[in-house]
Amino acid sequence: MRVVFVGPPGVGKGTQAQRLAERRGVVKISTGDVLREAVRLGTPLGVRAKSFMDAGSLVPDELVIGMLAERLKADDTRRGYLLDGFPRTIAQAEALGAMLDARGEALDRVIAFEADPEVIVDRLSGRRGCPRCGKVYHVRYDPSPAGARCSACGADLVQRDDDRESTVRRRLTVYQAETAPLLAYYRERGLLAQIDGSAPIEDVAVRLDEVLSAPRPV
Ligand code: ADP
Ligand code: AMP
Repeated sequence: MRVVFVGPPGVGKGTQAQRLAERRGVVKISTGDVLREAVRLGTPLGVRAKSFMDAGSLVPDELVIGMLAERLKADDTRRGYLLDGFPRTIAQAEALGAMLDARGEALDRVIAFEADPEVIVDRLSGRRGCPRCGKVYHVRYDPSPAGARCSACGADLVQRDDDRESTVRRRLTVYQAETAPLLAYYRERGLLAQIDGSAPIEDVAVRLDEVLSAPRPV
């Protein structure tokens, strides 16, 4: 299974990707997670990416495309992958298309998750994440059974710097300007399915399984 998740920040891509990857036994690749790890480790990529991420802007295409190309070389991508947060521009979508062609692969589906801005701001204000293993929680909608710690690995949960409301608004604007055009791009290629991301987590997961089991419209 090779699937792309598109949608505004906070719509639930990572939450669904984490669960779907477990259900289907495929790897989830989140470019946001890979970038945050690079920032944490202080790698040359992380140093270059940090100011863009802090500002709520996209990291330049050439950096993210190179990073994804490296990640796809790993053996764990052979059984399929879920791309969470990549592509985010038409240039990235075209680069992904070239990478897939070179691998003799094709995407099965592009899932676009949708929700109103108020839902998104509410979700992101309560998002907490594990800095060690990347698991994501919500203080009200998906709390950690271990309280302020990660239930998977025990690390203290943290709030992301870019989840401050002013940065969230900027990220939403960037999404509309740079990423939303991907919906038409993938619709034209017969790959797009849209899902209401504002429903509860389990309902979205059921809908996602339905969409992924349905044949693609020609
Ligand atoms: P994205 O990866 O699209 O930025 P996340 O998956 O990190 O979004 O979700 C943002 C926040 O909203 C997280 O705190 C997550 O726990 C919570 N969340 C995700 N999906 C839902 C949902 N369907 N209902 C309520 N809260 C959700
Ligand atoms: P995310 O975790 O998906 O919300 O991503 C966090 C931040 O990482 C974004 O606001 C961007 O700055 C950067 N980022 C993640 N994925 C991409 C991408 N595909 N292209 C450009 N920037 C990205």
